Amino acid sequence: METPVTQIRMSDYPGSRPAREIWQTTNDPLPTLKEGQVAARIDYVSIDPGMTGWITNKRGYMPPVRPGGVMRAFGIGEIIESRSDNLAVGDWITGFLGVRSHGVFNDKDVRPVPVDMASPELFLSGLGMTGYTAYFGMMDIGRPQAGETVIVSAASGAVGSVAAQLAKKAGARVIGIAGGADKCGYLTETLKLDAAIDYKSENVAARLDELAPDFIDLYYDNVGGEILDTILERMKYRGRVVVCGAISQYGKMDNPQGPANYLQIVMQSLTVQGFTMRDYMHRVPEALSALAEGLQDGSLIFRQHILDGLESFPDGFEMLLAGANQGKLLIKVNH
Ligand code: NAP
Repeated sequence: METPVTQIRMSDYPGSRPAREIWQTTNDPLPTLKEGQVAARIDYVSIDPGMTGWITNKRGYMPPVRPGGVMRAFGIGEIIESRSDNLAVGDWITGFLGVRSHGVFNDKDVRPVPVDMASPELFLSGLGMTGYTAYFGMMDIGRPQAGETVIVSAASGAVGSVAAQLAKKAGARVIGIAGGADKCGYLTETLKLDAAIDYKSENVAARLDELAPDFIDLYYDNVGGEILDTILERMKYRGRVVVCGAISQYGKMDNPQGPANYLQIVMQSLTVQGFTMRDYMHRVPEALSALAEGLQDGSLIFRQHILDGLESFPDGFEMLLAGANQGKLLIKVNH
């Protein structure tokens, strides 16, 4: 029997239109497999801030989605048919599987997932790209030391929450910045960070002066904009800034706000380094093993926010932009 495939496509680049207007759902047949390909049933689809760049027709770290194409997304699924020598029916795979219920992929474009180690959705969360991003950004670039003062923004989010916990494990004093009392409570009560700043209701500069009077050794930046500027003014001499993202600017990429206080980089001899996961794909096993160990011994907590069904994608995308998700935002695909 033919497998029906539900897919969400990007009809065109949104430009200044609301993204809601560009999504189109189609039902298509599953293509016939060629040599070296596998067909998979996709169980979870990830919604990520990076998607805003993938639907913008500008130079990014990878080409944008082509108008009419299936929306790019990380996913995880089980192989239901194989013409590959490397992957068999029953194996689980991850990679850019797209916002869809099933798909056919070249075996070299996907990675096998050891689902005997943890439940599948975790491989899109703390044991997946967001976890790896936090791990390499914090441990390879940031390198927190015991006793240092570390600040993480968007600290209750998928990447920030893992980055903050890793710095805490390294013995640093960690202050998280997040929006709202619930998220700040999660940071101090559940993740046991040393302090949290609610940037929506508190004066971030005043709170930093109170919590870090001797300034900041390391800042893990997920948001850019005003918070970055406030922190640049409070970095220690030879401090480090890890630039992971700038989510506060993703809605205004035609005229993004740059750091006005960039001269602090000169005056305090700061090291400011950006990165994406493409720099680290060859080291994924190292991150997976450290993160899985943390999950197993209870020293790392990964929180997921799971929506139901592919039809929740347009709402989920808006939810992400509004910061309304509590943890890694995923869709459980119904079959
Ligand atoms: P996430 O779980 O959705 O967390 C993002 C959080 O950012 C939101 O929940 C929101 O929480 C906060 N936020 C949104 N707008 C904000 C604003 N204007 N000012 C301050 N905070 C704001 O997403 P994520 O996957 O953790 O992504 C976090 C960052 O990492 C993003 O910048 C993303 O682009 C980046 N990233 C980079 C890489 C890489 O390879 N470099 C890979 C993955 C992700 P609040 O309620 O606290 O505002």
